Amino acid sequence: MKLFDSVITATQTQLGSFAPQVWDYEEQGAWPDAGASELVLQRDAAYELGGGGHPAVNFTCVTTNEDLVGQNQVVLYGSDLGRLKKDAPYARIALLQTTPLEGDDEAAYRAIRDMEYVKYHVFPKGYMFRISSGDFREQVRVSRSALRKGISFRSVGFDFIRQYLKNPNVLRVKLIFVTEPDAPYKMFQDSAKKANDITKTLTHILDGMATDCRSCNLKPICDEVEGMRELHFKQAKEDKK
Ligand code: SF4
Repeated sequence: MKLFDSVITATQTQLGSFAPQVWDYEEQGAWPDAGASELVLQRDAAYELGGGGHPAVNFTCVTTNEDLVGQNQVVLYGSDLGRLKKDAPYARIALLQTTPLEGDDEAAYRAIRDMEYVKYHVFPKGYMFRISSGDFREQVRVSRSALRKGISFRSVGFDFIRQYLKNPNVLRVKLIFVTEPDAPYKMFQDSAKKANDITKTLTHILDGMATDCRSCNLKPICDEVEGMRELHFKQAKEDKK
């Protein structure tokens, strides 16, 4: 599975000129999870990541290439939660190394969607996020009380990693947070769109759409993403069996 690899390498290049903080995953360091959606009222919030018109980007990439993910780690570019004093730009990028998902393509696509949906099942206490799938925004309201208790990207990231690793197809997770004001959020936004287009195309392929590239509105994605066209033709052949 290398459909997302070009998005991952582009992201790594875009962040290459910034120095990150890196933490290896330790499950016991995960921030307490509320287990269900929790409201942080505006009056209890210290600030919002992505609030006040700032960018707030989120996307997930799946690969079988272990070199592109490395270890289970949280990586932060920019200021940590305890240092931020007001609304700030924000990105959260999840890179997942999976087991080889080839073989049964349908199971592989469904596995990718399951991994994407993890973000709807992580509820760090005092860290309320609102996801808007249409424009790939993930805006986060951080409570003053959580900040007093020492919430950090390290502990929130560990909570995410803990949830991702519950999926048996996920081998490693690199979770990247960005609050660096000069980071290329517009490029992240483009990458988020591309990652979303890839997942959407996979979904259409799964639904058994015809393999007529001349009249297909997904052609720009197949022209750009290595392996996508081959995958559709392979899937169509299997569907005919
Ligand atoms: S291979 Fe791509 S462009 Fe061709 S029909 Fe399938 S999705 Fe459309």
